[in-house]
Amino acid sequence: MTELRWGSATDTGVVRTNNEDSLLVAEPLFAVADGMGGHAGGEVASTVAVEALRVAFAGDQTVDGLVAAVRQANAAVLERASAEIQLRGMGTTLTALALVTEDGEARLALVNVGDSRAYLLQQGELSRLTEDHSLVEELVREGQMSPEEAATHPQRHVVTRALGMGPGVEPDVWQILPVKGDRILLCSDGLPNEVAEDDIAATLRHEPDANHAAEELVRLARQHGGADNITVVVVDVADDDDRAREASAAVGGSRAKARPLDLEPRGHPDPDLDPDPDRDRDRDPEPDHAAASARAQPATKPRGSRRFTFRVALFVVALVAVLAVGVWAVAFYGRAGYYVGLDRDSVTIYKGRPGGLLWINPTVAQRTDLKAAQVLPAELPGLRSGHTEPSLAAARHFVDNLKAEAAPPAPTGP
Ligand code: MN
Repeated sequence: MTELRWGSATDTGVVRTNNEDSLLVAEPLFAVADGMGGHAGGEVASTVAVEALRVAFAGDQTVDGLVAAVRQANAAVLERASAEIQLRGMGTTLTALALVTEDGEARLALVNVGDSRAYLLQQGELSRLTEDHSLVEELVREGQMSPEEAATHPQRHVVTRALGMGPGVEPDVWQILPVKGDRILLCSDGLPNEVAEDDIAATLRHEPDANHAAEELVRLARQHGGADNITVVVVDVADDDDRAREASAAVGGSRAKARPLDLEPRGHPDPDLDPDPDRDRDRDPEPDHAAASARAQPATKPRGSRRFTFRVALFVVALVAVLAVGVWAVAFYGRAGYYVGLDRDSVTIYKGRPGGLLWINPTVAQRTDLKAAQVLPAELPGLRSGHTEPSLAAARHFVDNLKAEAAPPAPTGP
């Protein structure tokens, strides 16, 4: 049996007069919600969201069920907002963790909408699992703002995704293989805005009791200013069916079969899943991208004394394999085929893709004695953009046809 232990704490903070955060501790489901909206809006939104999440998840305790429950929570917030005029425009973040069974195996499913966060403490190292759906963090991800600027930016509290914003909501989704000793932290932004991640990590490392750890984190946030409400849920994997031992046996080489990855993000739902994952690799697509970077985080975050765990190593191997296949596919496609184009005013056969593909530039396969001036004008636009053919023979045949329909060369000599 996979067994969890947990603790939680919430506090209004030092500055605010009411606590708009809500938390849910209802094994196997845990959640933090940070409400926003005038009057009582924030409090109502976060309360309605976690209650609707709890009820909906109870009916389908799977990863898909958790995602569906987030949708139900969004619908519940919208419905309440439309029913009471003073609650118009209220919204809430939602970060939830649930122990589920997928394919006969225990998994921790994690969903996130907004700028509350989930962290994983694994073998003493803290890594952030979620990406904030906030204006400033998106600018940081796009390289348009430094993390230092973001930390003090006046609009740093503006979220780009929240429950209550509209009928559609796209949670980021992850699956985590629970391993004994792992500790997961869910928190509203009132914690990381006040307490440095190193101090959060130290507290989680040194306080074994989940409730005490949660209370200590809240105390630290108050001590550092407590400008916002602070909510913390700590979930410990207390037992895992000896999965940790199996993993260390595997890393010792005694097991031929690799364990599944611990972090399996799912861009969920993904009806428009991009069939060509390489194409958008450097851009900033929504939720798949978010999931992918969160997955990469534990492996790529530079840390001085980071212990390289087996599961991180396995993930890196898988990531490198995926990238290698992508590079190979681009190289293959970029070098495949021929096209007939113009090199200054000479018709030329090239190997590769017109205009090149990423770092693969076309090369000259064969020069011809045909000049652009001899080609029928109707053929010139096609030649300028490059007329593709599957083989060199086909390209030559195309040039022969051009010659056949071309005007006879102007007579030379006397
Ligand atoms: Mn907050």
